[in-house]
Parts: sequence; structure tokens; C-alpha cells
Amino acid sequence: VELSFERVELGLREPFRIARGVQHRFEVVEVAITSGRHTGFGEATPDARFGQDPDTVCAYLDRAGDALGHDPFALDAIHARLAAVGGQSAAVAAIDAALHDLCGKLAGVSVTRLLGVSADAPATAFTISLDEPDAMARSAERAASRGMDRLKLKLGGGDGLDTARVAAVRGVFTGPLQVDVNEHWDLPEALDTIPRLAGLDVEFVEQPLPAGHRDGAALKARADLPVFVDEDCETLADVARCAEIANGINIKLAKAGGIREAVRMVHAARALGLGVMVGCMGESSLGIAAACPVASLCDHVDLDGNLLLSADPWAGVAFTPAGAQRPSGRPGLGVWRVG
Ligand SMILES: [Mg+2]
Repeated sequence: VELSFERVELGLREPFRIARGVQHRFEVVEVAITSGRHTGFGEATPDARFGQDPDTVCAYLDRAGDALGHDPFALDAIHARLAAVGGQSAAVAAIDAALHDLCGKLAGVSVTRLLGVSADAPATAFTISLDEPDAMARSAERAASRGMDRLKLKLGGGDGLDTARVAAVRGVFTGPLQVDVNEHWDLPEALDTIPRLAGLDVEFVEQPLPAGHRDGAALKARADLPVFVDEDCETLADVARCAEIANGINIKLAKAGGIREAVRMVHAARALGLGVMVGCMGESSLGIAAACPVASLCDHVDLDGNLLLSADPWAGVAFTPAGAQRPSGRPGLGVWRVG
């Protein structure tokens, strides 16, 4: 089993802005794992918020090749060896995706069938970048004209305008709305803003407080809307603590380290009565395809990375008329390179 990798820049239709900063392109690392005449692919999407970038991913991948061994189906054993090489969840997630792609191709079945999950998933949300209220309303109109009927608004402007942002979008968009604050409120701003957002028919609030904030449980007890956490919830080890501060969790393969850990997190969250969402970083259809099998297990889906791109180097994920992301059903992840 041989591992190789390559850096790739993904161009965006519009700059992607959240409370932490703006991105003009997504920088990812493509991983290829070959066994005999089959090659599986995965995509590492490092996030500086979690101390990762393309350099740290490549440094990890340089050291990780020997951990793969000779049997790509021995996923638990491979993950144990990868853990011994050290952290780097985005890189591990890319290896995990490439192994699932490879195993599906070797077995002649899609990863969805390999895992025994449904191909049917809830509709995905589409992200509207943080901007002035009017600009976000125009962006929502452009998204709706592309068939996006479920929006996630990025908030946390720090300027007292977050309610105005949601109101401006609500003025032009009647579909389901959720908001993501990316850790940029404190307890007073959260308690002041959330009732106003409830009045604007927002479904839930994602990561209002900084991860690990001491007021998490107090906010959950007093909030008028469900609270989902993202930055607070990286791996299975975080899920039980999140039940104390949130009503749901946002699982991402790049935080979890791949499909296997993500599925464990879904079941742990269910046991604790939590809602479950699967999200993404800045990903092409290769990265999105790896998260799709997890989506059928979730209440909410935020897999829009490939929809934000000006050119997607991978094909095979369909955006369905119902607004869901659906892999082709070909063996493995069901995607192929086009650019
Ligand atoms: Mg988030």
C-alpha cells in the first residue's frame, strides 16, 4: 500500500468571510493510496483554528506512509498506528477517506454500501459569508437563485449588527435559516441577540461562545434557540462534555480524523440526546463525498464546500433538486478527477 500527496489550491466564486477572517482560496492536500491496480483518494482540509495548515499536513503525511501496512481493510489497526505518529486530524481524515475510497474500489461497492448507511440525506445548508447586512441579503438572493433553499449565515461581526444581518436576509428569504457565530459572542451578547433571532425564525445558533467558555452551560439553560457547538467538539472525547453546554454538535471529518470517528461521534451524541449535524471545511467534491455517508445519520447537513468553488477539480457529487448532496454510487467515494 503506497501513499502519495499533492497540494492543491481551490478557487472561490466569492471571498469566504467568517468572524475569524477572510479566505480568497482554499488550500488543501490531496492524498492518494494505491494497492495493486486501484487507487483511493482523500482530501485534507487543514484549519488554522485547529493549528493545522498545508505545511503541517504534508509534514505529517511524510511520516505516515509506513503506518499504512499491507491491508487497507484493517482500518482500526491503521488508525492506531497513525495515532502513534501523532495528531493532525485533517491529514488523518484524508488518509481515512482515501482508504475508504480504496476499499470500496477493491470491493466494487460505494462507501455508502460498504458502511450500510442510506444514500438519502437531509438537504444541505449553504453558507452566506459575514458582511454588511445589505450585502448579506444580496448574497442570499444570489444563493436562492442558484437553488439554495436553506442558508447558514455567518455572524459575529462584533459591531452590534448581527440581528440586522439576519433581519436583512429574512427580508428577502423565507426558507430555513441557521446562524454560525464562530466563537465571537460573550454571554451578554448571546442572551441579548438569541431572542431576537428566534423572532426571525432562525432554527439554531452554532458556536455562540468561544470553545471552552465557562458560561456554556448557563447559555444552554437560558437560550431561546437550540445551541449547536462546532469548535467545542472535535472528536469523540469531546461529545459528553458538549451535552452539558449544547443541544447538538457539528461533526466534521477534518476535526474528527475521518469517517470512522465521525460515525462514533454520531452514536455517542444520540445516546446523550444531542442533535447531530455534519459540516465541512473548504473542500472540493472529493472532500464532500467522504462526508456524505455520514450525512444520512444526521439531522442537519452543512456540506457546501464544493458549491463555493469557481472550479471543482472533482466530479461525482450531485446537488439534488431536493437540495441534498449525493455521491454517484460508483465504487468507493464515487468521485473522479476532472481538472
Ligand atoms: Mg461552524
